[in-house]
Amino acid sequence: MDKKLWIIALFFIFSVSNIYARKNDEFIRLQLAYPETIKEVTNSYIGWTDGKRMLIRHFPIIDYIIASANNVDLSIGSISRDDVRRDSYEVFFRKMYGNSPEEVRTKLVTIYWMPHVFGKKYPLKVTTVNGVDKKLTRISEALEKLPSSFHKYVDKPASSYYWRNVAKEEYLSMHSFGIAIDINLDYSNYWLWDYMRSKRTLTHLTLRNKIPMEIVEIFEKEGFSWGGRWYHYDTMHFEYRPELFV
Ligand SMILES: [Zn+2]
Repeated sequence: MDKKLWIIALFFIFSVSNIYARKNDEFIRLQLAYPETIKEVTNSYIGWTDGKRMLIRHFPIIDYIIASANNVDLSIGSISRDDVRRDSYEVFFRKMYGNSPEEVRTKLVTIYWMPHVFGKKYPLKVTTVNGVDKKLTRISEALEKLPSSFHKYVDKPASSYYWRNVAKEEYLSMHSFGIAIDINLDYSNYWLWDYMRSKRTLTHLTLRNKIPMEIVEIFEKEGFSWGGRWYHYDTMHFEYRPELFV
């Protein structure tokens, strides 16, 4: 082989091994994020704590995890529409939380949202998988301790468990798994409503937000990702995605 070919071959080997090392890192991130449900991650499969295995080969979640890792700085507007598309790795969340409404429902419990402020006005159905119910209870307690001027933003929670597709899309919303909550609609901004009002082009979306960051921080501390960080923002939406914070 001449010198030029050697250099190309070495570069190729280096790139491929780099990609593999990076993919392995991302899978380890997944295991760290979900210690209750993922027992081990090898080069070829994800081993779940129920003994089942999910082959990694040809598994589109690889792209999703890498996309997540690229956005780990979580700066506002950094997460693109493609990153939040669920269709390619829905299989992963179906395995984690339930493959049908019936299966998801067997794992749901009711928690009362901020009962010391709102009484028993807001029962929310959330999953017990990964301790999401306990995490949301801790969030609820922390929000109760904020000055009362903050409470209007988290009053009237619009939705928790609800098996449905994302509006106008072919893939399931994270609400389907009992891991998402929408806070007060009256103070929320959704990119599509703002876009339709402003008649601007889609490449010029600028985040509009009324939700105080004190509230966002309380959710993020428990591994809940905020829709206000997405380029196509949805500021009332929070979902349990601890792999983004590992
Ligand atoms: Zn939502």
